[in-house]
Amino acid sequence: MNQRDRRKEPVASFDEFLALAWLGGFAVLCREFDLCKGQRFSYRLMWFLFQRLRKMQEHIMREFRWSGDLYLRHGNREFSEDSNILRSIVLPGDYLNNKGRESIRILRRKGKQAAQDAGILEPTDFECLQFGIWSAAKEWPLQLHDSEATTLLIRQALFDVDGESHPEDIELREILVERFSVAFENHRNDSTDAFNTWFFNSSVIKQLARQKKTRGGALEGKLLRDGLIRLGWDAYTYVAECLNVQMQAFANALPELLTDWESQIFTEMHQRQAHWGNLCLLQLWERVSFAGPAFRHVIENHGDRQAISACHRMLQDYSALAKARQGADRRGKSSKKQGQAFEFNENRDSERSVSAFDLDDEVPKPGRRSASRNDVRGAKAFAARVFLDQKVGCKCQSQEEADWHVMPDTNSTDEGPISILLTCETCGFESEKRVDFQHLEALGQAVF
Ligand SMILES: [Zn+2]
Repeated sequence: MNQRDRRKEPVASFDEFLALAWLGGFAVLCREFDLCKGQRFSYRLMWFLFQRLRKMQEHIMREFRWSGDLYLRHGNREFSEDSNILRSIVLPGDYLNNKGRESIRILRRKGKQAAQDAGILEPTDFECLQFGIWSAAKEWPLQLHDSEATTLLIRQALFDVDGESHPEDIELREILVERFSVAFENHRNDSTDAFNTWFFNSSVIKQLARQKKTRGGALEGKLLRDGLIRLGWDAYTYVAECLNVQMQAFANALPELLTDWESQIFTEMHQRQAHWGNLCLLQLWERVSFAGPAFRHVIENHGDRQAISACHRMLQDYSALAKARQGADRRGKSSKKQGQAFEFNENRDSERSVSAFDLDDEVPKPGRRSASRNDVRGAKAFAARVFLDQKVGCKCQSQEEADWHVMPDTNSTDEGPISILLTCETCGFESEKRVDFQHLEALGQAVF
């Protein structure tokens, strides 16, 4: 890749960029197509619905940032022999251990090799996971044969939705649009802060549900949420149209036109694509950290069906892992606090600031040493400290031979003791301990 390509980082955050691009595209559409008042209202409504949808509980935000996120503590297991959630995805036979089970150790080993082949000399734990799952996805790509299957895959990679084999309830849809439009009109003159407080609060959903006197009457919460998510998918399409138009205008306005190579990358990243469910790649941004290498491969190999199918498999893997993780975490919670129902956190803040699309941040260059190699060494030293501190030993003959890992239970955020899993990847040793969080922190401070 010696081509001089002009990749820009347009703004500080992804959400900001999305908002600007939407606005630009909307302005172009208004002018070029002379949109009437009603149409302009629809576009605005859909933009807000798009943002609202991304704040709903069903929007999957689970990150898999290291192998600890795949491990299962005893209390979280459905079957006692499952020590991780890898059973939920498709892995080739050579990823299984001698007992025929999915193994994080083997996944990491495969991933490490693949990452090194791609030029990362000392991949981090996260890169080993990414590349391990991507290697498996390339061996078993997901072939999708129609646009409906693609759309469903993309939706399920972003939202916790079922297959939805039943047809959409058209009347419910009309009722939701009516109610949304009226509520929207009522808040038209709010200040921006007041509007946001109202619109992004969970009570807006309740307000829409509890309208006994309007068409459709009081609606059951689940029905309304399902309807909203279906309607919200249209909002994704509306937003895609605006982004597409804006980015096309941007490309046309460049003083020096895009070269063929740049144009291919630009098309993959900023234009609607059938293989992204007719959305723009930016709308799938929250999955880029998990499937980064697979996305990059598609972007740089425009039109390569195999690359797309491997990326699709990775997206399917993501939704399966997220579902499995959620199920396991709920089991863990209910075994701790019996009878307490899982609560939706409607007000969760999903606006993390993600650096807008400078691909070079995310992916390896040939010969690059991973920036986090000190973390890799730190993690090893930390594990050794914890093993000694807890007076735990594995079957390995020496500390050099052993490959120790410490996985704190990432779900315990309370003060006081937390669960940690001590494992050795060389001999398969596994032990669960409870330690005081502060104590663990102190052990960590000595090495990081
Ligand atoms: Zn060992």
